[in-house]
Amino acid sequence: MGFGTGLPSDAQVVNDEMCDVCEVWTAESLFPCRVCTRVFHDGCLRRMGYIQGDSAAEVTETAHTETGWSCHYCDNLNLLLTEEEMYSLTETFQQCKVIPDCSLTLEDFLRYRHQTAKRGNSDRALSEEQEEQAARQFAALDPEHRGHVEWPDFLSHESLLLLQQLRPQNSLLRLLTVKERERARATFLARGSGSTISEAECHRAQHSWFCKRPTEAPSCSVSVSHVGPIADSSPASSSSKSQDKAPLPTEPESRFVDWPTFLQESVIYILAARPNSSAIHLKPPG
Ligand SMILES: [Zn+2]
Repeated sequence: MGFGTGLPSDAQVVNDEMCDVCEVWTAESLFPCRVCTRVFHDGCLRRMGYIQGDSAAEVTETAHTETGWSCHYCDNLNLLLTEEEMYSLTETFQQCKVIPDCSLTLEDFLRYRHQTAKRGNSDRALSEEQEEQAARQFAALDPEHRGHVEWPDFLSHESLLLLQQLRPQNSLLRLLTVKERERARATFLARGSGSTISEAECHRAQHSWFCKRPTEAPSCSVSVSHVGPIADSSPASSSSKSQDKAPLPTEPESRFVDWPTFLQESVIYILAARPNSSAIHLKPPG
């Protein structure tokens, strides 16, 4: 029992009881963070400037949806970097003439990507394919098509790339909170079959972390009305249909992964989905 067993199923997440800002115990309207166990009074968040004006209502609304809301610690992926990592990132920005706190256009973004590629061992900049990939990442960082990427979103993206580059997988896994592990576990159980999950479902799950706003009409529901005769819905016919299983198609690319592999392959995207911003800070493949 207790924490640290490595079994997400028996871990119970208990939110803190006191507001993280005023440290007062109160049962009334505290916002839980969806990532960590901190809770907050909305008044305290406003007083500290963590939410401002119009965004207050939006925060209240999101905090009570299934998606939830990330507190100011969890919202900022840059805080995951060590001092050395932060120093290295700042140095790269200086060398590539990226001006902190300014938004970036596609041109700025691609120029930066080319420069950082050149700084590596390769003596050439991005290939055409890599450039296209960078352009897709830019679009993901600019979901409202404003033509620029906000500085905090860019910083979050660069912080993730650095984590991905420098940290071993085990160290990334340690960054996950109990809440994040539990959500990943629930997704694994819901999308997988038994103790494994197909690679296709794994990719779908990676995309699903970024559904931060509840969508009105999920397009994933499969319409079955056209499959057979509508009038015939007797249990006998449906059971005979399910027994008559087609042999499993042997697709060459189908690969199944277990829970530890699923978590390892998902960890960077789970972290990437922490910020409240609707930008996708690290676009999953596919
Ligand atoms: Zn938090």
